[in-house]
Amino acid sequence: MRFDYRIVFIITTLLFTLSSSLMIINYVDSVEFTRKQLKNSSLPLTVDNIYTKIQKQIIEPNLIASMMSHDTFMKNWLVHDENDVDQITQYLQTITSKYQVFTSFLVSDKSQNYYTDNGLLEKISVSNENNAWYFNFKEKPEENEINIDYNSFMGKSLIMFMNHKIYDDKSRMIGATGVGLKTSYINDMLKYFRERYHFNVFFMDNSGDVLISEDGGKFNYHAELKKLVPEIKNKEKKIFEYTDSDKSYLFTTKYIDELDLYLIVGAKVDHFTQSVKDAFYFNMMISIFITLLITLIVILYIKSIHRKLHKLASYDALTGLPNRRTFHNQLEYLISHKDRRHQNMSLVFIDIDDFKVINDVQGHEVGDKALVLVAATLEGALRKTDFIARWGGEEFIVLLIDTSFESAKLIAEQLRVKIETSNSLAQQVKKKITISLGVTQADDDDDADSLFKRADEALYEAKNTGKNQVIAIEKSSTNS
Ligand code: GH3
Ligand code: MG
Ligand code: MG
Repeated sequence: MRFDYRIVFIITTLLFTLSSSLMIINYVDSVEFTRKQLKNSSLPLTVDNIYTKIQKQIIEPNLIASMMSHDTFMKNWLVHDENDVDQITQYLQTITSKYQVFTSFLVSDKSQNYYTDNGLLEKISVSNENNAWYFNFKEKPEENEINIDYNSFMGKSLIMFMNHKIYDDKSRMIGATGVGLKTSYINDMLKYFRERYHFNVFFMDNSGDVLISEDGGKFNYHAELKKLVPEIKNKEKKIFEYTDSDKSYLFTTKYIDELDLYLIVGAKVDHFTQSVKDAFYFNMMISIFITLLITLIVILYIKSIHRKLHKLASYDALTGLPNRRTFHNQLEYLISHKDRRHQNMSLVFIDIDDFKVINDVQGHEVGDKALVLVAATLEGALRKTDFIARWGGEEFIVLLIDTSFESAKLIAEQLRVKIETSNSLAQQVKKKITISLGVTQADDDDDADSLFKRADEALYEAKNTGKNQVIAIEKSSTNS
C-alpha cells in the first residue's frame, strides 16, 4: 500500500485557495473602504475643521479693525491735519497690546503717511511695490479686505492684514486702518495636520500659486495637481484625484471668501492603505503557516491510518504474527528470486494437537491465550531471518531461509520440544500442549502451491502417525 500524496495536495490547494481568496477579497474591500472614507469623510472634515479655525481667528481682529475705522478720534485726528503723531502712536499701541495683535496701522490718504504702533513708518508711494496694496484697496468698491502679505519692516513672516477704509462725513475715503496678525498659528495647524494625519494642507491664490504652506514641511506641488487649478477655481467639484509617479493622491478644496484664497487638503492614498497592506501580508503569512501546519497534520494522520490499515490487512490481530496473505506474498517473492540468490528454503507447517479439546474444556478465551503463547514461543525460538506466520485457526507456518533440509528438520524438532516442554504454556492452559510439524524443502521446480502441498502432506502424515512429531518430505520427486 503506497501513500497517496494527491489527496494531501488537493486538500492543501483547496485550503490555500480558500483562505487566500478570502483574504484578497477582504484586502480589496478594505483598501476601497479606506479610500472611500478618505474621500467622503476624512478630507472634507479636515477642510471644514481648518476653515472653521481660520474663521475663528479672523472674526475678532476684523471687528477690531472695523471699530478702529469708525473711531471718531481717528477720524478727527486725520481731518485735523495729523498734527500730533504721539497721540496716534499711543492709540495704535493701545490697540496692539490690548487685543494682542501683531501690529496695528493707519494710512492717511492726504499725507500718504503710514503710521504704526511705533510711530510714523514711511511715506507710501505708488512706485513702491510694498505699498501697492493701499492703492489697489483704494480702487476697490469694498469697504474692507483681508490681505496676506509681507511687510519689509516687519520681518520675513507672512502677515494677515485686516484693512478697513476710513470715510469722512461726506463719505470720502480719508485713509485706511486695521491690524496685522502673524500667520504662524496657520503654520502650526498645517504642521499638526501633516504630522498627525499625513494631510498636506496649503492655500492657493487665484493665480494658482501657493501662498501659504507649512514652513519646513516638504511641500510638493505636483505638476498633475497644477493642471487641476482651473477646475479648483470652478468651485464645483469637491474631491479631486490625480496620479504622480504611480502614486495616487486625493484632495479636496474650499474657497475662503474673506481671504480670497483656496484652502487645499491633500493626501497620498498609500499612507492610508499601508496598514491595510501590512495586515494583508501578515495574514497571508499566517495563512501559509496554518495551511502548512494543517498539511503536516493531514499527512501524519493519513500516514498513521495507512499504517493501521496496512497492519490490519497484513497481520493477525490475535497473535500479532503476519497473516496467510503476507506469508503467501513473501513466499512467492522469494521463490521467484530463489535462483538468483542461491538460497536453500524450507517450509515447516505446524498444527497444534487436539486444540479443539482446549477450547471445549477450558473455553475459547483460554484457547486464544494458548494460541498467543504458542505463537510467541515459536517466534522466540526462531532466528531473525526466519519468517513465521499464522496460517489460520491453530495452524502456523514457518519459512526457513538459507537453511539446508537437515537443519530445517532439526529446527522443526527444536520447535516441537520447545512447545512440549514449555512450563508457562502448561501453566496457562493447565494441560500439556504439543504440536505436529510437516517439513519440506523447496527445489528448483517448486512454486508456492506445490511447496505448500508437500508441507501439508508431511503434516497430515505427522497427524496420522501419532501427532507430537516432525515428518519431513524431502523433494517433489520423492513425493509418493
Ligand atoms: P488435531 O490434533 O487433529 O489437529 O485436532 P484439533 O482439535 O487441533 O483440530 P480441529 O481442526 O478439529 O480443531 C481445531 C480447533 O481450533 C477448532 C476451532 O474452533 C479452534 N480454533 C480455530 N481458530 C481459533 C481461534 O482463533 N481461537 C480459538 N480459541 N480457537 C480456535
Ligand atoms: Mg488444524
Ligand atoms: Mg489441530
